[in-house]
Amino acid sequence: MFNKILVAYDGSETAQNALHKAIEMKMTLKDSYLEVVHVFQVASAVLGDALLTAPVMVQDDLYEAAETLTSEVRQQIAHLPFAAATLLDGGPPAKVILDYAEEHQFDLIISGSRGLGTFKELLLGSVSYEIVQHAKIPVLIVK
Ligand code: ATP
Ligand code: MG
Ligand code: MG
Repeated sequence: MFNKILVAYDGSETAQNALHKAIEMKMTLKDSYLEVVHVFQVASAVLGDALLTAPVMVQDDLYEAAETLTSEVRQQIAHLPFAAATLLDGGPPAKVILDYAEEHQFDLIISGSRGLGTFKELLLGSVSYEIVQHAKIPVLIVK
C-alpha cells in the first residue's frame, strides 16, 4: 500500500506522535522504507528579521540543534531496517519537504498537526497546512 513513507519532524509533541505512528505503520508494511526529515530553518525564519544581522554564532548554534534533533531520531529508528533520518535545508520547510517527496518518489507523508509555534488555536500550523494543501500524494496528519 505505502512503500516509501516520509515523516516531517520538528521535535514537537505532534511530530513525535507522527513519528510513533510512522514506525508502527512501517512495521506492518513489509519492505517499506521510512525516512524522517527535519528541515533546518535559518534564524531569521524562526526568530524574526532582527537576527539577519545576528552573529554567525547564533546560526551555528541553531544548526547544531538541528543536527542533534536529527541524530536523536536516528537513534530512535536504529532498530528498524531500511529507515533513515536526514537533515535538510535550503528553503521553507513545507517546500523542501514536498520537493524531496516528489524527487525521491515517496508515496505517503506523515506530519504532526502543530509544531513548535506558539499559537495553538488552529488545527494546523503553516508547515502542515502547506503540506496538505500542495502535496500530490496522500498525507497523514497526526495530532
Ligand atoms: P507555525 O510554524 O506556522 O508557527 P506550528 O509550529 O505550530 O506553526 P507547523 O510548523 O506547521 O506548526 O508544524 C506542524 C508539523 O509540521 C510538525 O509537527 C512537523 O511534523 C512539521 N514541521 C514543522 N516544521 C518542520 C521542519 N522544520 N522540518 C520538518 N517538519 C516540520
Ligand atoms: Mg512551526
Ligand atoms: Mg513558523
